[in-house]
Amino acid sequence: MAEIDLNSVQEPQTFEFKDGIRVLIVAEKGSIKFVEADCPDKICIKTGTLTKPGDRAICLPSKTIVKVEDD
Ligand SMILES: [Zn+2]
Repeated sequence: MAEIDLNSVQEPQTFEFKDGIRVLIVAEKGSIKFVEADCPDKICIKTGTLTKPGDRAICLPSKTIVKVEDD
């Protein structure tokens, strides 16, 4: 599990996780999203950009969850 403070992101930051299925997540100031995933359904990418606390994107095949939390 990784945590990132979206408010302190200056340059877009890329996170790659590879646990069987590769996913690529990009965090920018105030937003985060899946940009690439080798999963078959691509639901995580279709979820789009997360910006608000409570927003979440889940990639079940790769068991990756991205969620935005309040401080
Ligand atoms: Zn996925």
